[in-house]
Amino acid sequence: MYCFSCKKNVKKRINLSNLFEKEYHFICENCFEKYELRLGYEVIPGDTSDIYHFYLFDEKIDIDSNAFSSFFQRYLITFIKNKNKMTILWYDYIKDEVVKLLIKLDFGNLFIISIY
Ligand SMILES: [Zn+2]
Repeated sequence: MYCFSCKKNVKKRINLSNLFEKEYHFICENCFEKYELRLGYEVIPGDTSDIYHFYLFDEKIDIDSNAFSSFFQRYLITFIKNKNKMTILWYDYIKDEVVKLLIKLDFGNLFIISIY
C-alpha cells in the first residue's frame, strides 16, 4: 500500500498492542505528522432541517484527499451504529454554494463529512 501524499510504501509498525489491528491508512507516518488534524463539527440550520457537518481540517490543505479517507471510517461506523435516518454525504471539500443549495433542496437532516 502506498502513501497518497509522497507515494512511498506505507509500512505499519507492528507491536503487541496493534498486532491484530485491522486498521489501514493511506498516508505514511512522516506525511501524517506534517498535517495537524483539526477535527471539527458544525451545525448549519435550515428552514425545516439541519446539516451536521464533520471535518478533519479547518482550512484547505494541499494533499490528495484519499490519503485521509481511512479516517472517515470511525464517522461511518458511528453513523451506522446509531441507525440514523439521515442522509450521509461525503465531500473532499464542501463549498458554501453547495450548502446553500442543499438547504434549498430540503432533503431533511443531512450528515456531511469532509476533509475541510
Ligand atoms: Zn507519505
